[in-house]
Amino acid sequence: MDASALPRWAKLAACRQAIDARRREILAGESEDGDLDEEVVLAAARRIARPPLRPVINASGVVLHTNLGRAPLAELALERLCAVARGYSTLEYDLAAGGRGSRHMHLAKALCELTGAEDAVVVNNNAGAVMLGLAALAAGREAIVSRGELVEIGGSFRIPDVMALSGATLVEVGTTNRTHPADYRRAIGETTGLLFKAHRSNFAVIGFTKEVEPQELVAIGREAGVPSMFDLGSGTLLDLTKLGLSGGDETPVGQAVAAGFDLVTFSGDKLLGGPQAGIMVGTREAIDACRRHPLMRALRPEKLCLAALDATLALYREGRAEMEVPVVRMLRATPGTLTPLASGLCEDLRAALGAPWSVELREVSARAGGGSYPNVALRSIAVALTHPQRKASELEAALRQADPPVVARIEDGELLFDVRCLHPQTGREALLAAALPALLSTRDDLTS
Ligand SMILES: *Cc1c(COP(=O)(O)O)cnc(C)c1O
Repeated sequence: MDASALPRWAKLAACRQAIDARRREILAGESEDGDLDEEVVLAAARRIARPPLRPVINASGVVLHTNLGRAPLAELALERLCAVARGYSTLEYDLAAGGRGSRHMHLAKALCELTGAEDAVVVNNNAGAVMLGLAALAAGREAIVSRGELVEIGGSFRIPDVMALSGATLVEVGTTNRTHPADYRRAIGETTGLLFKAHRSNFAVIGFTKEVEPQELVAIGREAGVPSMFDLGSGTLLDLTKLGLSGGDETPVGQAVAAGFDLVTFSGDKLLGGPQAGIMVGTREAIDACRRHPLMRALRPEKLCLAALDATLALYREGRAEMEVPVVRMLRATPGTLTPLASGLCEDLRAALGAPWSVELREVSARAGGGSYPNVALRSIAVALTHPQRKASELEAALRQADPPVVARIEDGELLFDVRCLHPQTGREALLAAALPALLSTRDDLTS
């Protein structure tokens, strides 16, 4: 950004910082010169003027990186979101009646069609969906959960805490590794309000294990007249095993619905690849209870989310998700599809950096992230970068200061650019444009 385009407040702040620093130096006897270097001050102003929330290049190989904003949106979702954001919309306006409509009805049809559920509603995020579901179905009553599913998702979201907050009383059954149908049956009583199941998301239990299958859990509830709820966490609309992603235990949303749960909740921005949202699908009665609950007002989704989610769902309905939803495309990428991009990047980096940098292709393992497929390694391709005098940690830190910042990964002392999450068309150029100045500036430091 040239100096005249920089906002005045940023230039002012940079000048003040520079003057303060120079004053301290003079007072400490470290300098006698009162002049400031204009280029240094402008560089500081540029840093100050940068928005705190800005795009980064994800070269970490983690597809659903929660810290990096999870799912990049599909082009169609971006278009719809912009169209709705730019002006006014039918958010709560019924065009036929010329009066008030409901924001909660826009996506119900698409979600029911895609999942087989009777009804559906969307809230701000899945943590909110779980909270609302528990509050609507089990407040003042007991909710029975297996000890193997009392998970902490991260960011202080823990099933026992959310349960307490919702007003439901947690009843734990079974053990960490094994829970049997009889454990649930024994715990059901007069005050039972709900059987609750949670996807383990970020860990796996292996070895001597037993959990009650979804259908069986639902059946146990039905026998006793108790509703059941499944927090799927990630929640996919596709059978990803058919798309070549195997080894995980993600239950597709449709399967959870078909198992008969009264309520199934999942995130909009994990495997689905849409905007941040909590999606609730289930029986008419359960969804209605959620829609009418007073917490709904605090958790309701905003119009940008609804527009982007609707467009994402449209891609699934039209069978275009595999190609056009970035998360699905990135998860399906194989070493075969990634190698051309990685080789090109490798050649460009070699040519631009020269000796004594070493640039090589590596077969690596990437992660789905976002609490999806916790025990599945995705075979991926990375470009490994080393320099005889530079530690990988220094290079990694320099890349975080690039513009836009590049988030890479370190493995066995090498800096890795995993190409899985780069844009297939523009990713190579974008990474080079950002990374090269940052890497070369570390080399200049060395030689100067
Ligand atoms: C990720 C996750 C959540 C929270 O979802 P957000 O969309 O991040 O609010 C809740 N439950 C499970 C099992 C999860 O994996």
